[in-house]
Amino acid sequence: MNPNPQTSRKPNTQEREDVFQKAASYTRARETRATGLYPYFIPIEGSEGTEVTIAGKPVVMLGSNNYLGLTHDPRVLEAGEAAARSYGAGCTGSRFLNGTLDLHLKLEAELAEFVGKEETLVFSTGYQTNLGCIAALVGRDDTALIDKLDHACIVDGAIMAAGQVARFRHNDMRDLADQLQRIPTTRGVLIAVDGVFSMDGDLTPLPEVLQLAHASGARVLVDEAHSLGVVGPKGAGVTDHFGLAAETDLIMGTFSKSFASIGGFMAGDSAVIDFLRHNARPMMFSAAIPPYAVATVLKSLEIIRTEPERRVRLWEIQNLMKNELAGMGWDVGLTETPIIPIVIGESRMAFQLWRALLDGGVFTNPVVSPAVPEGRALLRTSYIATHTDDQLHRALEIFRRVGKELGLI
Ligand code: PMP
Repeated sequence: MNPNPQTSRKPNTQEREDVFQKAASYTRARETRATGLYPYFIPIEGSEGTEVTIAGKPVVMLGSNNYLGLTHDPRVLEAGEAAARSYGAGCTGSRFLNGTLDLHLKLEAELAEFVGKEETLVFSTGYQTNLGCIAALVGRDDTALIDKLDHACIVDGAIMAAGQVARFRHNDMRDLADQLQRIPTTRGVLIAVDGVFSMDGDLTPLPEVLQLAHASGARVLVDEAHSLGVVGPKGAGVTDHFGLAAETDLIMGTFSKSFASIGGFMAGDSAVIDFLRHNARPMMFSAAIPPYAVATVLKSLEIIRTEPERRVRLWEIQNLMKNELAGMGWDVGLTETPIIPIVIGESRMAFQLWRALLDGGVFTNPVVSPAVPEGRALLRTSYIATHTDDQLHRALEIFRRVGKELGLI
């Protein structure tokens, strides 16, 4: 890559602002690269799931969303391969036209049953799912009311929608109630929350959200990206954990985490899902997830349903790592899930810690503003049911050594 990129000259000499000017003056990434602490787009050269190869060296993977370790399960791989052979490598079109397979319909029916809603609609990514559904539902006379720490695709869906956007303070039910009061009853309201917040690993207080919402005639969408396969007695997310699937208007999920693949879905009442089927543009105008991915998700769903011991192991690991890391003196925030943040504060120090951990043999994800508030940079660690005790203890020892060397613990 050119270390001093310059945008090409404009072809004409007329006085006009250049849309490329922002690229020429964008220096943040270049500056971070120059420090040797640039942490993004690190190429992984090979993966066994819990360990990956980076720069020719094996490192313990504490930065994936592969919560149940299904990306490398032979049954999942075989199901994907068989579907590719029967249906081909891709769908070459959108669900709306030529891209719907009988496999998509089978998956939609099984997911609806799993999360406890009438119907589901499968999208090509989780991001597109929220984008398309929120934009389709929040019309000119409506308001999207979202938690300040919601995932970017909820924020972007709300921005793309024709209606207004309002935000309430993270998990603050008093603020949610105040905001609801302020929105005139002539406006419809869709409240959208992450079930498990993706950076801090804390849960939405769903019973209170639903109570406030329904008392004021608002609808609720819960994003179960990080909770499916992980949270709840049957692994069906926070709605399952609280026993509130029936009361939750819309349940959203992704296939890019416990389901070991790519894609997403929205679940709800048949009439709403049918509306989305004909109005959610990111699904209608983008190609369907390929046969390999659909079959992978179907097999993963079967395993999630029938092997609860994976979830049990994941929670054992969560418990061990949270206690050990906190015991060493790391600030692990308010996590309640296998997403364990290591809150550092200043972004440069977060990058330094990330680099030292990687050099030591542990992969983590540094998270800085705007993904988290300014001054609350953190390393996001997350765990896999197939991590071995040996890998976890190795990672803990590296955390201890590096933390001491950097004077952080
Ligand atoms: N919602 C949440 C809470 C997420 O964390 C993510 C991805 N990190 C998404 C939605 C988007 O999912 P996908 O990667 O499948 O597009």
